[in-house]
Amino acid sequence: MAELAPWKEAGLGRQLRRVDAVDGPRLQHDGREWLAFASNDYLGLAGHPALREAAQRAVQTWGTGSAASRLISGSLAPHHQLEECIAAWKQTPAALAFATGHAAALGTIPALVGSGDIVIVDKLVHACCIDAARLSGARLRVFRHNDLNDLEAKLQWADSQRHDAHDASSRRSPRILVVAESVYSMDGDLAPLRDMVGLKNRHGAWLMLDEAHAAGLFGERRSGLAEAFGVAESIEVHLGTLGKAVGSAGGYIAGSRALVDLLVNRARSFVYSTAPPPAQAVAAQTGIELITGPEGVARCERLWALVDLLKNELIRAGWTPGLVRSAIIPLIVGAESRAVEVSTQLRNAGLWVPAIRYPTVARGAARLRLTLTAEHTRDDLKALATALASLTPPGTTTAS
Ligand SMILES: *Cc1c(COP(=O)(O)O)cnc(C)c1O
Repeated sequence: MAELAPWKEAGLGRQLRRVDAVDGPRLQHDGREWLAFASNDYLGLAGHPALREAAQRAVQTWGTGSAASRLISGSLAPHHQLEECIAAWKQTPAALAFATGHAAALGTIPALVGSGDIVIVDKLVHACCIDAARLSGARLRVFRHNDLNDLEAKLQWADSQRHDAHDASSRRSPRILVVAESVYSMDGDLAPLRDMVGLKNRHGAWLMLDEAHAAGLFGERRSGLAEAFGVAESIEVHLGTLGKAVGSAGGYIAGSRALVDLLVNRARSFVYSTAPPPAQAVAAQTGIELITGPEGVARCERLWALVDLLKNELIRAGWTPGLVRSAIIPLIVGAESRAVEVSTQLRNAGLWVPAIRYPTVARGAARLRLTLTAEHTRDDLKALATALASLTPPGTTTAS
């Protein structure tokens, strides 16, 4: 199509690469085996025997499809059991499951805010939260990534707008919603959650926290960074996915009973969409049960040991990563074309490492995004470091 030509010329073209089999981080593609550092299945639960068996049993019991929206054909027990499990995990009064995390965001933000309200998002929040904020019709403001001074300035502005607003037709006062991630998906850095919570409280704003890359990995129950930082109770809207560390698919919102009641009535991606397959819900529940038990402890310990090892291997290979705080390690390359070139060179060594480019990240901030899972071995990391050591890291001038 003509509209793709300039896109492709700029080195931004994308295509699907078919995978014929998956075994943890090992993939079959194009007739050979690849070692991947690209999965968000951080704990390796997507292939876990307990999840496979639970899903198979659910298919035997419930069949494959859910037949309709949960408001139409009846709301199947596996979805309720999953929601009780999520609420217990996140320690909130209630939770609601969606078909995907993307659908959860898209349904929730427009249910919470509309014209007359204000949404303030971190510059680097996920595309689904940006789209949802735009869809809501609320006024949208963006604060610089993890910059609390800038967030405060935006909150002060929002406060002044709120006090000016005299909308007699509205049945409630204007709402201010702050949206942030706890672990950022393309940088792997952490939000300053404690201070952020204090700030939004002082301004009477709500916080929606996207824990897509933190749930399963942080905190004593491994429910996310909000738990680890001791601020979970002060967060109004917890957003997460069941497709990453949890090892299944789906998304959720956790929070008050009033919030969930609102979403059951008003979140259009929930109301006007067929419920996800019961087997998806049952697999997700099994994943959360593993995460909160001894298996979760063991898998997290293994993952963090691998993260540490990879950090050291990268430094030894001359590819010094920034501060590593999560299972996402970006190697910033800069130019889009260079990122693709390095990714291709790694591919020639049988390594599957995605080049992340605009528009997923800013122009000129292209990177290799390495993710680790508990199923990687120490030898896998050494193989990656060896391949990287033979390539020129960014910012290296080859003096002769
Ligand atoms: C993956 C992701 C989502 C969407 O979740 P899905 O279940 O994959 O639709 C939302 N937010 C962030 C930060 C994500 O990385």
